[in-house]
Amino acid sequence: MLKLSQPNIDEEAIAAVAAVLRSGQLVHGSEGEAFERELARYLGCTDVLLVSSGTAALHVALLALDIGPGDAVIVPDFTFPATANVVAMVGARPVIVDVDPGTYTLSVEKLEATVKSWRGPERLKAVMPVHEFGCPAEMDGILHIAKAHGLLVVEDAACALGARYKGVKVGALGNIGCFSFHPRKTLTTGEGGALATNDAALAARIRRLRNHGMERQGTELRFMEPATNYRLTNFQAALGKKQLPHLDGWIQARQALARSYLTALEPLQVAGQLDLPLLKEGHSWQTLMITLKGDRDRSLVVEALKARGIETNLGAQSLSSVGIYGAGVANDGIGRELYSRGLALPFCEQYDDRVVADVVAALKQALGA
Ligand SMILES: *Cc1c(COP(=O)(O)O)cnc(C)c1O
Repeated sequence: MLKLSQPNIDEEAIAAVAAVLRSGQLVHGSEGEAFERELARYLGCTDVLLVSSGTAALHVALLALDIGPGDAVIVPDFTFPATANVVAMVGARPVIVDVDPGTYTLSVEKLEATVKSWRGPERLKAVMPVHEFGCPAEMDGILHIAKAHGLLVVEDAACALGARYKGVKVGALGNIGCFSFHPRKTLTTGEGGALATNDAALAARIRRLRNHGMERQGTELRFMEPATNYRLTNFQAALGKKQLPHLDGWIQARQALARSYLTALEPLQVAGQLDLPLLKEGHSWQTLMITLKGDRDRSLVVEALKARGIETNLGAQSLSSVGIYGAGVANDGIGRELYSRGLALPFCEQYDDRVVADVVAALKQALGA
């Protein structure tokens, strides 16, 4: 079976994990501290804090910014539901705004319309742009609107480590950026995540929120506030740290693979069979998702490809189509279309033009084109 994607873990990374296991220093330790420093240098920000998942990162970000009951937070319609789950979990209300076709990221126009017409009853407190599939969201427009209306900005960069917006890495453009190291992401620690910020006070708050609310004062441990244990282990940090020097090379390979796919799929787009994602500058291509057109049954296409040994799936969810968030929300927008017609194709840096040729040939046959 040609898998949707595969983790890229070499013998050196496995040896680094084994060394930590032999050391007995399993949780706190030098690997985690070094990985945080190297990620901060990579992202060009002052502080990176490791946590146990991308969802933990998003949750801690909202806690650190004191977002809670009485607040509303804008989230894009097309994403993984964790983006909205964390908002609801802190007692705030997720407000769903539609995305743009082609980039699958928050529509700046619709964001502005929502912010301008906001009548409460909650206080609009933050916006969470998602760099969906590694495509950088339109941050200039989003930051401009946020500044004009006093909104905090939490970037959900869970699937976008290494993506760039106008040459600058995403994740440190707003108040806090959140990353995931789940095996479906380009760099993986199994489960894992990180927060990035340029605000030293926020970094200190995040550090204690991930660690039982504890702070060391002299020789004493103080419990400052109720909090989580969202720490990442030292052996997972060792795994991530060994992959980081390879990441930019992997992203370049992914950008080349995306160009190959889009070139090979263009005749099908011209024939009106499908729509293609935009080759946006700085896209890190965690996933390549196309959308089928017309009233074609996606599950039949998925089955036909599976019969030829090719794994595909739907790309992400539409929050307005998720029962717990969609009640009373119009779901006739772009996000809903992407959710019902999206098809993610096999994609990772280990794949080459031969994979593209096989997948596109199978897709042509499945579409009867
Ligand atoms: C993967 C992902 C998450 C969740 O990350 P986990 O590490 O699985 O908790 C959240 N948001 C987006 C956009 C993601 O792609």
